[in-house]
Amino acid sequence: MEIENETQIMINGNTPELNGFTYDEIGDDHMSTGVDTPMKQNAFDMSDDDKKIRIAELFAEIMDVMGLDLTDDSLRGTPNRVAKMYIDEIFSGLNPKNKPKVALFDNKYQYNQMLVEKNITFYSNCEHHFVPIIGKAHVAYISSGKVIGLSKLNRIVQYFAKRPQVQERLTNQIALELKKILNTDDIAVIIDAKHLCVSSRGIKDDTSATVTTYYGGAFNSPDKIAELQNYITQ
Ligand SMILES: [Zn+2]
Repeated sequence: MEIENETQIMINGNTPELNGFTYDEIGDDHMSTGVDTPMKQNAFDMSDDDKKIRIAELFAEIMDVMGLDLTDDSLRGTPNRVAKMYIDEIFSGLNPKNKPKVALFDNKYQYNQMLVEKNITFYSNCEHHFVPIIGKAHVAYISSGKVIGLSKLNRIVQYFAKRPQVQERLTNQIALELKKILNTDDIAVIIDAKHLCVSSRGIKDDTSATVTTYYGGAFNSPDKIAELQNYITQ
């Protein structure tokens, strides 16, 4: 992805003040309130099938309020399509039952340098506007004795991307999950993404991209960061 105008967000830095801002301003500034996706206690009491029926009803109502003719052949199926897409695809990562099962293997090769899986393309959606975030994730770890299948790194990124998200939280959720699975602090996650709520509406900046980073354990050193950046830009 071409980046002409990067915005560096410091994950471990200061949290911007919420006080004194309107919800609109907070939305456009993409603030994140915590590392866990805010979910209701009873989020999964309703079955997926029942959720699809309810979402389809509600989405039909939104379309109706906007004045769209739901008897038109082209629009008739839209509420059901949207409902199915929300639950089975673009927001399927809300449900823990869809979390990828991860098997670990012994580090037989005694490979003790960083492993970098770069350019993992993902599609997510901004939780403030429900429009796409499109980007690339680069993840890296140093084995503490176990290794993970490469495709699983990709699947973990996709799982957390398939939620209404803010980029800072997505970055941290991927990092904390890898930390837990691989039993090491030596994890790095870099996300470089374009937010359609910034490019297609609001400020309408088509060239900016947002970069977020997580450097844990051994990655928290200028040398390791430089090495990692070098692999990613190659
Ligand atoms: Zn947004």
